[in-house]
Amino acid sequence: MFSSDDTIVAIATPAGRGGIGIVRISGQDAVRVAATLSRRRQPLEPRYATLARIAAGPVTLDQALLTFFPAPHSYTGEDVVEISAHGTPVLLNGIVRAALAAGARLAQPGEFTFRAFLRGRIDLVQAEAVRDLVESVTPLQARAAFDQLEGTLTAEIREVDAALFELTARLEASLDFPDEGYHFIDPGGAAAAIRRLAGMLDGLLASAAHGRLVREGLQVVIAGRPNAGKSSLFNRLAGAGRAIVTEAPGTTRDLLTETVDIDGIPVTLVDTAGLNSAAVDPVEIEGIARAVAARDVAAVVLIVLDRAQPLAADDRRLLEETEGQPRVVVANKCDREAAWDPSAVVCGTAIEVSAETRQGLDALRAALAGALTGREPSRDVPAVTNTRHVALLEAGRAALERAAAAAGAGIPEEFVLADLHEARGALEEVTGRRTPDDVLREIFARFCIGK
Ligand code: GDP
Repeated sequence: MFSSDDTIVAIATPAGRGGIGIVRISGQDAVRVAATLSRRRQPLEPRYATLARIAAGPVTLDQALLTFFPAPHSYTGEDVVEISAHGTPVLLNGIVRAALAAGARLAQPGEFTFRAFLRGRIDLVQAEAVRDLVESVTPLQARAAFDQLEGTLTAEIREVDAALFELTARLEASLDFPDEGYHFIDPGGAAAAIRRLAGMLDGLLASAAHGRLVREGLQVVIAGRPNAGKSSLFNRLAGAGRAIVTEAPGTTRDLLTETVDIDGIPVTLVDTAGLNSAAVDPVEIEGIARAVAARDVAAVVLIVLDRAQPLAADDRRLLEETEGQPRVVVANKCDREAAWDPSAVVCGTAIEVSAETRQGLDALRAALAGALTGREPSRDVPAVTNTRHVALLEAGRAALERAAAAAGAGIPEEFVLADLHEARGALEEVTGRRTPDDVLREIFARFCIGK
């Protein structure tokens, strides 16, 4: 998919300005390219920062620190030189252009990590974890990704795979003695051994549902009448004054979104236009249509009612329309005198909050977490978070189940072996030992350039 014998270059730090920006060069010519840029004759000392002036032809661009990581002990497993310059796009682009002129090629998205994978520095689970770690928005997401990068999941999968390898070797050896069958392991022993391995996969999959939530997050749509306090609550939950809050009803006409950490899950909060059946302004009507559409695809709807105003027909309609959906109902403005009784009107489930005084916000977060996960909040670091991994582990587990049943029933080894091979295939597709090229391409295409 990528040619891997040339030398690649890219900016490794984010677009924009910063104190430092890093240009990374990897490949067999990395040292020569860096020497051209720095006009240095003496070799770079491995893993030491060397101060040098970086030039593009006759023009000096910047003073930078060069660090040389010789193969194979580098991120990619190849010779890598990192140039830490001042973090300015014009400058960093100038350094990249100079590297291109010196013979390097611009890296494709994910190509550094792909090379690390190709050269066996990391497996596919770890490569995917690199991306997850870079993209994480909640601390729990980052911890789960870092665990995978450290190889926790890889080690568990390898353990199952190694045991399967041994088991299949014994069964295959038994095939050489067809008359006797199950020569090197008895059927009951094989079934028990396979069940133990299926149990290990069960252990990994136990946290998969929570893991997917932690990795992928969910959408919570805030709905309610104009002026109920939707934007104020959005801001309180987001922890910043992002949405415009005004006394005039109908100010949030478009959809405002913000990702917030609710119990470790990255939740995209969507603030919507207030529902107002009397709306006549076409912009407001369009905003309401978008609000209704957003509600339909939300994982959870957060319904905001104004406790200081009598419930209106629009409130009741909203409650009816969302009846079958996961939802959290709040009675906002509980700092004011109550115009209705939350326990009597909304099936006793409205949480009393005040966006103004912050009262009830913790209870609201807990209720949202409960509605999102459908269970008690958990901040445990999940082992498996990636949908691709979950699907393959489930397929592997199902194949093991079939193999165990076949072995237990004394069905000939060939059939047991076919299922065991299928299980191994699924596990090795997770770690990248046997992963189709198109899957690899898709995984690495989702990386950013420079990673
Ligand atoms: P939205 O139209 O539903 O988004 O409502 P806003 O968030 O813009 O709030 C409408 C008005 O109610 C603003 O003047 C807010 O300051 C006020 N408000 C919102 N929440 C509270 C609350 O909990 N207590 C009080 N006293 N006022 C609130």
